[in-house]
Formats: sequence, C-alpha cells, structure tokens
Amino acid sequence: MKDIREIKNKTGIRLIVMDRLLSPSRALKLCWSNRKSLAYIRRKFGWKRWLNTVLNYWYITGENTGAGLLDPLFKFFPSLTPYPLEIEVEFTTICNINCLQCEYRHWDPKLKLPDGRPYKGQNLTFEQFKNMVDQFPNLIWINPTGEGSPFLNPDFLKMLEYLKKRNVYVNFSTEGFNWNREISKKIVEIGVDKLWFSIDGATKETYQKIRVGSNWDRVWNNIRGLVEEKIKAKSPLPQICFHFTPMALNRHELIPFIDLVADLQEEYEGWVAEYLTIDFQQVIINDPKSAELQYEPTDEEVRNVHKHAKKRGVKIFYTRPSYDEETKPAGDCCVVWKEPFFLINGDVVPCCACVQRNNRTWLHEFTFGNIFEKPFKEIWNSDRYKKFRKMVVNPKAPVPILCQGCAVYNFKDRREKYGVSKNI
Ligand code: SF4
Ligand code: SF4
Repeated sequence: MKDIREIKNKTGIRLIVMDRLLSPSRALKLCWSNRKSLAYIRRKFGWKRWLNTVLNYWYITGENTGAGLLDPLFKFFPSLTPYPLEIEVEFTTICNINCLQCEYRHWDPKLKLPDGRPYKGQNLTFEQFKNMVDQFPNLIWINPTGEGSPFLNPDFLKMLEYLKKRNVYVNFSTEGFNWNREISKKIVEIGVDKLWFSIDGATKETYQKIRVGSNWDRVWNNIRGLVEEKIKAKSPLPQICFHFTPMALNRHELIPFIDLVADLQEEYEGWVAEYLTIDFQQVIINDPKSAELQYEPTDEEVRNVHKHAKKRGVKIFYTRPSYDEETKPAGDCCVVWKEPFFLINGDVVPCCACVQRNNRTWLHEFTFGNIFEKPFKEIWNSDRYKKFRKMVVNPKAPVPILCQGCAVYNFKDRREKYGVSKNI
C-alpha cells in the first residue's frame, strides 16, 4: 500500500488500479523475501503446507501476508467472492493488562453478551473453536485475535496445534506478557507462521505508562526466549514482527523503536524474522478527552520514519497513521469483508476494522448471524450478507451501518450524500 498521504485524494477506481496492478510483483516479492521459511516448511512439514503458504502470499489481503491478487475482481464483482478462505476469531475476552488505547479499558463492567453472560472474562472453548473452524474446509489463513490476551485462554495452544495440523497459516498478535519458555518451544515446534508483539514504546518508562500492568523487562525476555528457541530448532518460524501504536505519548519514540528492533535483529544475526516488520497502527480514540492519545503525524514525521526504516532494513507499515477520516482511502475500495470476524459468542461482523470502538452492543445488534446457531454457509449466502457485499463497494450506495466508524476507510462524502443503511 502507498502511504495514505499520497493517496488521500484519489478516487476508489484509481486507487484500485494504482495499488493492485502491482499485486503479482508483490506476491512474487513476498515469496522471495520468505524463501528460507518456504524451504523450511517444505522440508519439515511437506508440500501441502508449502503450497498453502504460497497461496497465502497471492490471495490474502494485507499486513505483509498477501498481495490480494483477486481483490479488484471482488471489488467490481462482489458476487464472485468465494466462501471465505480467511477468518479472524476472538478467542478470549480476558486480559490482565489495561492499555490506554484499548477498548477493553473502556468496557462498562456491567456490559453483557446477548445471552446475559458478562462480556469480560469469556473464553472460546476448544469444542466451539473446532465447530467454527471446521465450517471452513478450505481455510488457508486465520488471525486468532480480539480484546484479550491469547494465552489466558487455556486451550489456545491446543487450538493453534489443531490449525497447524490443518496447514492453516496462523498469524496473531500478543502483548507478550502472559508468555513463557514452554509456549515459545511449542510455537516453534508446531510452526506458527507469524507473531506480532504489541509494544508501544522504545523505553521502559513510556511503555509501562501506556501498557499499564505489563512489564517491559518480562516482555523482552519472552521475545528473546522465543528467538533463542528458533535458533535452537534452526527454525525461521515464527516470523517475529511488531505492532506499535503511535500516539501523543510515544510519537518521539518511533525512530528509536525502529533502532531497537533492528539492533535485536543484528544481535541475533537475522533470526528475529526473515522479513523484519513493524506495523505502526492507527490509534483508535475511545476516550475523546484523552490528550495523551491524540496523534496526527506531520508529513515530515511520516517521511523521516520511512527514511530511517529503510536505512535500518526494516519493512514498515505506516499506511494509516491518522485517525482523521478524511485522510483515508474511499470506502468503496474495501475488500476486507472477504475476511469475516467472529466475536467471542460466535456473532459475525464484516471484519476487524469495525470492532475496537467500544461498540459491542451495537455490533451484536447488527450482526449477520451467529455461527453457533446457524451454519455459516447459510449466513454467508443470506440476502442480507449478499446485499452488504454489493453495497459496501458501490460508491453511490448508502454506507452499511456496520461500516459506520470504520477504522480504515473514508465514508464521509458517501454518508452525507446517500446516508447510512440500517438494514445492513
Ligand atoms: S491491547 Fe491487548 S493487552 Fe492491552 S488491554 Fe487490550 S487486550 Fe489487553
Ligand atoms: S468496516 Fe471498513 S474495512 Fe470493514 S468491511 Fe466495512 S469498510 Fe471494509
């Protein structure tokens, strides 16, 4: 993706053409950049997993995982979109950290799931998880994610193992606090593909101010332990990548953070990741009064961060550094809806970009359905879901209600001209 400031005034079609014409070369580049991992996968896990990994590089959309080769086709002909090959699933709503930027911090303690259970403190059981995943026989990619710390679900490792036995590409984020050496060993042994450690500071002081309750030394020890397990097993997997949410409190630490990661890679002679990556993710403001979060980068900051990352050999994603809607690409460019997101109780929403806004009651109200109550095939092929897929890519249609407040795309003009459709 181009930097958002370069594309902000382009129309949807121009953006698609500009960004997607190059997707075959991006897919090839991904295969080339991950060639050691691909060779390792073929040797250790066989051709089937190798093929699946390559397919990911071509088909999946976004975040350094895939080039989304067919995305333009789905944008213009949404009815051709196949039954999902990629999903995101919330595995837990348990967390013992209290990060400033997280919606978890703002959830009302009395917030309830539609069935009356408290919202916080829930885990997906292994049986529920299996029921869900088995409804996607051709699944090639999964992001087990959501508002919670993954390993506080006691079945999480078992779930990862199940996915890897099915050769699904597994990519997930973690705060790295609820972690130990045994986890590192297992993750390496089963061949989890990619991990994103979320670290929003380049110094202990800033980090602990933002990630309240976490511990800088413990997290870095855990990361180092994981790199050491990779070296012991001579495994390039998992690729260790980083998330960093720029905000007022840490905006001065973006470049030092690039250095921190690049130094770690040098210290371990390239074993951190074959393709060293930092994703500077947009901050989502759940508390409009919080001055410490408000962050609007200057063009110069964006340029400097890109320049420094290039110099240190770190691939960065800094594509949506702004929370200002008008600096985002037009909503009709979106094809992320080919990757449904399952909330903790099994309710499905179009993607992860409509969560994280402390709007859970509303998401459950407008869900397309619940995978534990109805086969997902029926939900995916329902008139409402089909209508949604057509509506979201049509620049002259109302904005589907579930895309109101989307974190990635700009619907401002469309909302003003055509309104918001509450039926979807
Ligand atoms: S960002 Fe992650 S670690 Fe932090 S409070 Fe939210 S769920 Fe917990
Ligand atoms: S919420 Fe945003 S990213 Fe998700 S489907 Fe809607 S427009 Fe696309």
